[in-house]
Amino acid sequence: MHSCRRESCRSHRDASSIIIRKFIGNSYLNRGPCRKSTLYNIEEQRIFDEISRRQATRVLLQLPEGLKPLGFKLARRIEEKTNAEVFLSGDPCYGACDLALSPKKFVDAELLIHIGHASIPGEFSDENVVYVEARSDVPIDNPMMQAVRMLETEHVVGLASNVQHIHQLERAKQILEESGKQVHVGRPSGWLKYPGQVLGCDYASVRAIADSVEAIVVLSGGDFHALGIPLATGKRTIVVDPFQNIAKDMTEPCRRLLQKRWANIAKFKESKRVGVIVGLKSSQMNLSLARRVKELLEESNYSVVLLCVSEVIPDTLESFTDLDAYVEISCPRIGTDDQERYRKPILNPEEVMVALGKKRWEDYTKGMTLEEWH
Ligand code: SF4
Repeated sequence: MHSCRRESCRSHRDASSIIIRKFIGNSYLNRGPCRKSTLYNIEEQRIFDEISRRQATRVLLQLPEGLKPLGFKLARRIEEKTNAEVFLSGDPCYGACDLALSPKKFVDAELLIHIGHASIPGEFSDENVVYVEARSDVPIDNPMMQAVRMLETEHVVGLASNVQHIHQLERAKQILEESGKQVHVGRPSGWLKYPGQVLGCDYASVRAIADSVEAIVVLSGGDFHALGIPLATGKRTIVVDPFQNIAKDMTEPCRRLLQKRWANIAKFKESKRVGVIVGLKSSQMNLSLARRVKELLEESNYSVVLLCVSEVIPDTLESFTDLDAYVEISCPRIGTDDQERYRKPILNPEEVMVALGKKRWEDYTKGMTLEEWH
């Protein structure tokens, strides 16, 4: 489950904050107006087992914003079942890029229980971190059939999902194939753990198949993950949202976003003093990319300072009144999705390449020109 708290990472808040009403046993139930079905399954027993196996006496429990309403009851159940002391992390949680490793040290917890997201392959594998994904069993058949009807002219289709629905990809594939579509699911790489998985900052699985498909269907609550697909591939994208029980074409939202990005790139070009923001989250820091961007900007006569920031929020950036614009290295979606919250332009490194004339605007949706984000 990718469930970043950022305004740009809304998937949990859109889906779960609104819908979650009741927690029963190990199921988090959706009692929406029309349906009654399991919203998220969280493997509680695995949490209990891991704590016992590691003989942990103190644990830190971290949930993304959309699942925080479940934190109290989950913490209580862990204490009851294991006798371990539980600290519930109250800081925002953005994704698997944002493990509460420092708070874990501060409270001297032996184990961090990170709820909601898939682990990032190769990251913190030697730390005492237990990842407990939250999977949704909200039925997908109806919105999938809506997607099929929208794909009248496309016959070869890519399929993707965020981690909440990754176990439903097989069913989605079956529905598409029974409707006469040829289906491609891309292999994972980079930060992705599962075939077909997408993150808001990693679309390697869909980029791998983009040249072979006419459109892409993505299972995801909210628009966040879906919007990144046409941006990363240039392909028509249909989001199948099981929580809202709808399928939606992302072409128009993507067109509107591109218009705004163009305007912000133009504004950036008029700036002189630029802050390059390095994120301090557990997996966000990319100093070499930050230095490379700084170098490129300086070659084009911008004055540049490197900023390091734990929480990129408007108030923090507004305090730097002598800066004209920013480049966001930590999370590429802050500028693209949250720009309205900031008075000054915030570009991601790809957009800097466009601003500097090193990448054509027409190629904005055609992959990376700098080294990969992570
Ligand atoms: S870096 Fe990726 S995982 Fe982290 S907040 Fe941004 S989009 Fe989400």
